[in-house]
Amino acid sequence: MDSDEFRRRGKEMIDAIADYHDSIRDRPPLANVNPGYLRDLLPRAAPEQPEQWDDLVKDIERTIMPGITHWHHPQFHAYYPTGFSYPSLLGEMLCQAIGCIGFSWIASPASTELEIIVLDWLGKALGLPEAFLTSDASGKPQHGGGVIQGTASETLLVGVLAARTRSVKKLQEKNPSLSVQQAMDKLVAYASDHVHSAFQKGGSLAGVRTRTLPTDDEFSLRGDSLKQAIEEDIKAGFVPCFVCATLGTTSFCSFDNLTEIGPICQENDVWLHVDAAYAGSALICPEFRHFANGAEFADSFNFNAHKWFLTNFDCSCMWVKNRAALITAMSPTATPAFLQNAASETGLVIDYMHWQVPLGRRFRSLKLWFVLRLFGITGIQNHIRKHVELAKRFESYIVNDDRFQIVAKRHLGLVCFQLKGDDELNRELLKQLNASGKLHLVSTELEGKTVLRVAICSAQTEEKDIDFSWQLISQTAKDVLSGDEEEPSKISGSD
Ligand code: PLP
Repeated sequence: MDSDEFRRRGKEMIDAIADYHDSIRDRPPLANVNPGYLRDLLPRAAPEQPEQWDDLVKDIERTIMPGITHWHHPQFHAYYPTGFSYPSLLGEMLCQAIGCIGFSWIASPASTELEIIVLDWLGKALGLPEAFLTSDASGKPQHGGGVIQGTASETLLVGVLAARTRSVKKLQEKNPSLSVQQAMDKLVAYASDHVHSAFQKGGSLAGVRTRTLPTDDEFSLRGDSLKQAIEEDIKAGFVPCFVCATLGTTSFCSFDNLTEIGPICQENDVWLHVDAAYAGSALICPEFRHFANGAEFADSFNFNAHKWFLTNFDCSCMWVKNRAALITAMSPTATPAFLQNAASETGLVIDYMHWQVPLGRRFRSLKLWFVLRLFGITGIQNHIRKHVELAKRFESYIVNDDRFQIVAKRHLGLVCFQLKGDDELNRELLKQLNASGKLHLVSTELEGKTVLRVAICSAQTEEKDIDFSWQLISQTAKDVLSGDEEEPSKISGSD
């Protein structure tokens, strides 16, 4: 493919992408294929000779699309949203077109410098404590700063590793005969029992023991619970090292109490990481900033712009107050000769390879820059507020129907509910809804019982879509309660 053909095919592809999104309602939100379906549709080996573009394009609809779960379908209510917008996609295209790998400043100065600037912009726009930025209001350089990681899980791992390095160093200063392994064996990381499994994964990969703690009636980790666990562990000879507080848990979108947890972390010299993977986007709206009260106590803060911030995967934004702590943990060995350069030696530049696990990194700040500039803060606020209003609308349907109950307080764009009665009813309701081919949702568990979650995900979702989802749920519930196995086929699409 030469550049002339690329121009032609590229324009066709842009049209196909716009058509896909314009007509997404015509597709089922959940893929309906059996495991291994694609093996039967594709040849056993790669073609020896080049194929024709048109043949390739035909195969997208024939082979790939049947196996796609359409995350941007208005009736996709599973998990949490994943970001999509045309400005972000165009930024992503440019990122891939430039194709630089900005591991050090000199490897592509614009990549590093835009990331620093955009994360400072974003930190300000979300109302994060000023210490997370690279400079204060007067422009004076500070010790903090932001970095774009791939995912919240990577960010958690990086946070645990930074905390581990800091704690091991302190333990060895107190007791120089202690080996690194002996020091590590003492460390404990804490989180609520509703924390994302990325916490246990990060702890396990970092070799740090993890402990989950009970929460209050609103699934929020409170100070007392943490204090008690820390005191018990200190008494038993362990060393508290890391706390992951969640703003917007995956199951219920509940919020840990940072104003209570923060001071306890400070008193005990424990690294406080805030995982706001989903809910962090809402901080763009002043009326939701109270959820982050106490963030000034945090050592690191993370939200996934690729969830609810109109930005395509991957774009997980992390800020630290003390970047030296991160760099010490992430660059434990000497830099090889081929990565050394004069700019790094001045100490005036950021080399992001020392802020993350991999060496290579994409120019991800481009798409975030496109999003911030082309939507503006107001445009993103409108998107968040609209989703919250849509969730309220859905919640009101549940609240006003005696057959259902709300299970967790709704704070943002997630509604958690159950059909009153046996767990079997809820499992059946979930099964029938997903089998309808018209809506997709997933469940979570509370005390061993199924809880249905409706998250507002697609940027295209409108009131009529919420009404359609509700009617489908209501009708299916009627069938389930009456023992009628028939699929709720009477309700047609929401367009
Ligand atoms: N933390 C929370 C609160 C989440 O909701 C999720 C995913 O939904 C994660 C962490 C993991 O995110 P990632 O896929 O970016 O690792």
